[in-house]
Amino acid sequence: MDQKVFVARCRDERGIADAVIRALEGLAPPLSIQGRRVFLKVNLNKGGPPNRALNTHPEVVRGAVRWVRSHGGNPFFGDSCSIPGFTLHAARAAGYLNLAEEEGVEFLDLDRGPLVPLQLFAGEEEQWWISGRVLEADVRITLPKWKTHTLMGLSGALKNQMGLLPGATKARLHVRCGDLKTLARAIIQIHRRIPFHAAVLDGSYVLEGGGSRSGRPIWLGVVLAGRDLPTVDAAMCHASGWSPRELPLLEAAGVIGAHEIRWGGDGAFVSETPLRRPGFDPKRLGRVTQCAYALRSKAFDPTHRPERCRDCGACAEVCPTDAVTRREESWISLRRCVRCFACTSGCPEGALVPKGRWFLRPWLRSRMQGVNPD
Ligand code: SF4
Ligand code: SF4
Repeated sequence: MDQKVFVARCRDERGIADAVIRALEGLAPPLSIQGRRVFLKVNLNKGGPPNRALNTHPEVVRGAVRWVRSHGGNPFFGDSCSIPGFTLHAARAAGYLNLAEEEGVEFLDLDRGPLVPLQLFAGEEEQWWISGRVLEADVRITLPKWKTHTLMGLSGALKNQMGLLPGATKARLHVRCGDLKTLARAIIQIHRRIPFHAAVLDGSYVLEGGGSRSGRPIWLGVVLAGRDLPTVDAAMCHASGWSPRELPLLEAAGVIGAHEIRWGGDGAFVSETPLRRPGFDPKRLGRVTQCAYALRSKAFDPTHRPERCRDCGACAEVCPTDAVTRREESWISLRRCVRCFACTSGCPEGALVPKGRWFLRPWLRSRMQGVNPD
């Protein structure tokens, strides 16, 4: 396991892309990407401007895209957002679609098929899926946001891997796991099944305190990069003024105490004051959290609009559970549907849309930071 973490600092937002390029140059051992397809996994939580510190800063993506191209690689970037079925809306609100146009690079909605099966729990029949395009990439680099998280304490490289699951299957994984330790082990399983070759942690604006709902964004102006994801998270923890034992994901990865971080680049980095922790212990709210995720996992249904449909069959082709019946009276069998939203993302006519219960709309508007769910 390589334990070097390269540090690149920047004074303001204009310096972020250069810091990312320097950080990627400092990876040890270096990454070979000449002529290869390179997938860049951002952290797209929901909409919101970059200084809210909810999503990977678009300038981090810009730096990574330029670095990949300068080394002869072919980049594309993407994610599945935290509001099931609304990834493209969130990507627009986070500035990613503009960036994709400016840099001439593809944004990949990870809800969009083809989805391929992913076994997460040995001997279990229940299935999980992931975008086949991610698996086809020759090189995968994760670009997580550095932020506090109400369940996991801090969210960095390992937590970002959960966004590989499409649509509401992320929420379903919370429900399936039932407790924090099992969830942490499942995320480590995703990390092991889909290896990433490097992590570039976005510490430009970071979030402290209550997580994505009520956390406070602060400017740290630093990017951390390394070849080993747990090591980058251990460095994030250290730099936040926390103990690695506070992170269930590092515990589940079995790396507590195994990290002697070798700092490179601009030198060891520690925040001047420890980042404030979320205001409550999630273990005490186990049942409440489970109910919230159970609600979210079924909050939206893929809904058919017959007036727009050309009956091309693309939705049935991408559905991993054969839930698309294409019968006029019930186009989709909600009993079989896992709310991955591959069908809504893939419909060329906009004839399938995620539709939430009416009482959820105010919640969705407040969650999505500028995205109109109607
Ligand atoms: S993909 Fe869209 S247009 Fe094609 S059959 Fe399905 S709903 Fe109709
Ligand atoms: S109908 Fe199929 S493709 Fe569409 S959301 Fe449900 S499971 Fe996914």
